[in-house]
Amino acid sequence: MRIEYDIKLGFKDVMIRPKRSTLKSRSEVNLEREFKFLHSPVVWRGIPIMAANMDTVGTFMMAQALSEKNLFTAIHKHYSMADWSVFLSNLPQGAENNIAVSTGTSLTDSKKLAKVFEINPNLKFICIDVANGYSEHFAHFVKQTRELYPEKVIIAGNVVTGEMVEELLLSGADIVKVGIGPGSVCTTRVKTGVGYPQLSAIIECADAAHGLGGQIISDGGCTSPGDIAKAFGAGADFVMLGGMLAGHDESGGEMIEKNGKPFRKFYGMSSSTAMEKHVGGVADYRASEGKTVEVAYKGPVEGTLQDILGGLRSTCTYVGASRLKELTKRTTFIRVNEQENRVYDS
Ligand code: 5GP
Repeated sequence: MRIEYDIKLGFKDVMIRPKRSTLKSRSEVNLEREFKFLHSPVVWRGIPIMAANMDTVGTFMMAQALSEKNLFTAIHKHYSMADWSVFLSNLPQGAENNIAVSTGTSLTDSKKLAKVFEINPNLKFICIDVANGYSEHFAHFVKQTRELYPEKVIIAGNVVTGEMVEELLLSGADIVKVGIGPGSVCTTRVKTGVGYPQLSAIIECADAAHGLGGQIISDGGCTSPGDIAKAFGAGADFVMLGGMLAGHDESGGEMIEKNGKPFRKFYGMSSSTAMEKHVGGVADYRASEGKTVEVAYKGPVEGTLQDILGGLRSTCTYVGASRLKELTKRTTFIRVNEQENRVYDS
């Protein structure tokens, strides 16, 4: 046994220090980024915020709404081939650049992935997603997928440490998804004791990835536009959102009424709700590692997007970054013991 005494930080442990700036208005800030990738020849341009591949977030409807604003969606892996055929036959212009097809590491998953690409070979992104990206089998699967799809952009995760980011990039991933345990409906830290505070995970993993010419996605733990700004400030190339995009018209999840008010169900992909829905129950050798919650219905996602993008533009003006690309360079975090004033919170 060994103990690391360095303090690891989460979003709540820091704020971003304002800096002198020549920017006059938020409208001068450009949130679009252009990425070239380590392995794939694809060039991607857009606002690097992603809907998570959860069936209550990363839906086809969400992809359509986000793509119109040039944001990205990792489509969840539970759509049938018939659903994919319908969606791809009506695919709105440009959406194929802004979606990833998600897959697990089973043979069934990889066969389904191949079928989706048969319907539309122009889809560019694959998201290989497992809860624990530390297994040898996972790195091997990434390698096989790279051999099969030399041109596609491969996202792989989740991990939280630099050495595993490097291994996945060297195995063929272009982008590594970072986050174990910070998610809003995740119970991994409670059930297993395993995890890593998200801000430190981003800082360490971004450093490892950028050293090799790869990118990272900060996945999980953002509860406000300010957290998204901190994730970018820490070095994330992309930020993935679950809970912040749940509860909208475009999100999945059953609509419920409670005391006359509308709610939508939102659950972790390892929750018993998800396992009962997709694999017929929780297998007897495992525990559920996700929660099921009801979130207040939030209307169309457009309003939330404006809040997020407006907040992020404002962060950039506070530190003098005219482009999102400059935010990390212009970020100084200060360690804090307080965040917002909650005197009027009920
Ligand atoms: P959020 O933005 O809601 O804080 O986090 C979303 C992320 O939580 C997802 O992208 C995924 O990585 C993670 N997640 C989703 N469902 C589960 C689950 O059931 N268990 C765990 N451990 N993580 C989950």
